[in-house]
Amino acid sequence: MCEVVVLFDGYSKNLDDGRMDANCTCTLIKGTKLIIVDTMTAWDREKLVEALAQHNIQPNDIDYVVCTHSHSDHIGNNNLFTNAEHIVGLTVQRGTIFHENPQISSDGYELCPGVKVIATPGHTKEDVTVLVEMIKDGEIKLLAVTGDLFEKKEDISNPSIWKLLGTPELSQIQSVTRSRIINLADFIIPGHGPIFHVTNTMREIVKSQVI
Ligand SMILES: [Zn+2]
Repeated sequence: MCEVVVLFDGYSKNLDDGRMDANCTCTLIKGTKLIIVDTMTAWDREKLVEALAQHNIQPNDIDYVVCTHSHSDHIGNNNLFTNAEHIVGLTVQRGTIFHENPQISSDGYELCPGVKVIATPGHTKEDVTVLVEMIKDGEIKLLAVTGDLFEKKEDISNPSIWKLLGTPELSQIQSVTRSRIINLADFIIPGHGPIFHVTNTMREIVKSQVI
């Protein structure tokens, strides 16, 4: 079974001058393979290397880099991980060779037992979510690392948060995908906020927001 470590909680806040201060959640998955999900901005290189070192991991040890989508705050340090396969949205790349993996859009692309990547369009057309099976309190629980499909826990009670930051013409698709994923997951690691436990009340709210 896998262990999941959130190396950095993402955040986003509006500044007074209309700009935004944001960085993504960065997650390490330790299964039979080592996987990093979303590599933050290009200015976070040293802090990412240091955080991995605290887990006795060197960048070259990472087997897979998954970027939930290709926005710059989620891909900034991919080039630290040149021993890894890179999955950026629907595209799978190693060196100069890349292709679209059809499993991502169907039953999921398994990276190792208990970890798969599935297509979850909405924030962008090519979003992916990493689903991780883990044991908690003696039971198998499903954790979803969703990128910005879920911006943060607060976007459930205040959907304008995800709608304003997403792609307007994809809002309907995002509302459907959000409901699909929250129905599957016991825990969600959102793109710009701390991990949260999913409740049935949340599932009902998200379902009622399907456009
Ligand atoms: Zn983001």
